[in-house]
Amino acid sequence: MSEHKEKFRKELEKPPIRADYLGSKKLLGKNAVITGGDSGIGRAVAVHYAREGANVAIVYLKNDKDAEQTKTMVEEEGQQCLLIKGDLSSQSFCKTIAEKAMATFRHIHILVNNAGMHEDEQKLKDISKAQLVRTFEVNIFPFFYLTSYLLEHMMEGNVIINTASVTAYRGSDHLIDYASTKGAIVSFTRSLAKNLADQKIRVNAVAPGPIWTPLVINAFSTEQLKKFGKDAPMGRAGYPYEVAPAYVYLACDHSSYVTGQVMHVTGGDVVNG
Ligand code: NAD
Repeated sequence: MSEHKEKFRKELEKPPIRADYLGSKKLLGKNAVITGGDSGIGRAVAVHYAREGANVAIVYLKNDKDAEQTKTMVEEEGQQCLLIKGDLSSQSFCKTIAEKAMATFRHIHILVNNAGMHEDEQKLKDISKAQLVRTFEVNIFPFFYLTSYLLEHMMEGNVIINTASVTAYRGSDHLIDYASTKGAIVSFTRSLAKNLADQKIRVNAVAPGPIWTPLVINAFSTEQLKKFGKDAPMGRAGYPYEVAPAYVYLACDHSSYVTGQVMHVTGGDVVNG
């Protein structure tokens, strides 16, 4: 990585939760599965959930060091953290996640479908078939697999929260395949919310705007990172600790009359829907 790009890594050094965030037992006694929970937004959600009294299982692709750090942070909040490593694009791995989480916690009250990836391409023709398939296989197919395995065990009052993106609403000229999967996540959220309403299982999404996480540092060029977030009305990118409280709200009973909705945490970008 170039020295120039390396300086943006400093943006990843902020803690995943504000020191003055006071937990108030909003999720006491709950257990959550969070995909992509080892870093970025997922890590921040894991630590916020732990401060609110929940145990968490985090699913991650390969970064054991990040996963161990998140586990330590969750344990420092006095909660349990189960690490589950593997590739979510595999349906059988999604089944394994549900089995492991159920074996450890006996009940899962909250599922956060958050893992995602993107590759930057300036032209539609440069999106190879392999990339197109991979982006959909990682970003949306596991939402169907894992949610359906866990739903076998979920009950009234439980919640599902999906990570969409501002790109689903305003589009992205350089992440066309990725933005398309995020549009699919919005429709998945709305449809599943209707499907599960009579079971009293709520389904919502969070659509972050530009947030400093490993995903963007790894995928974007130095030039792109220099401009990252500058076009948001607030003139800057956000940090995971500024997004995670939305996941707390949607997970706890304070949002008991909210389902099929998307919370926009975008630094002021107004989007429809
Ligand atoms: P991140 O790199 O910290 O997290 C991505 C996570 O996805 C990692 O934990 C990784 O282990 C996991 N993952 C990727 N592919 C996987 C696979 N095949 N199997 C299992 N796990 C896999 O980045 P982040 O920005 O925190 O991303 C979290 C979510 O937020 C993603 O869905 C992303 O699209 C979304 N998002 C991010 C931004 C942003 O600006 N950072 C904006 C909008 C939406």
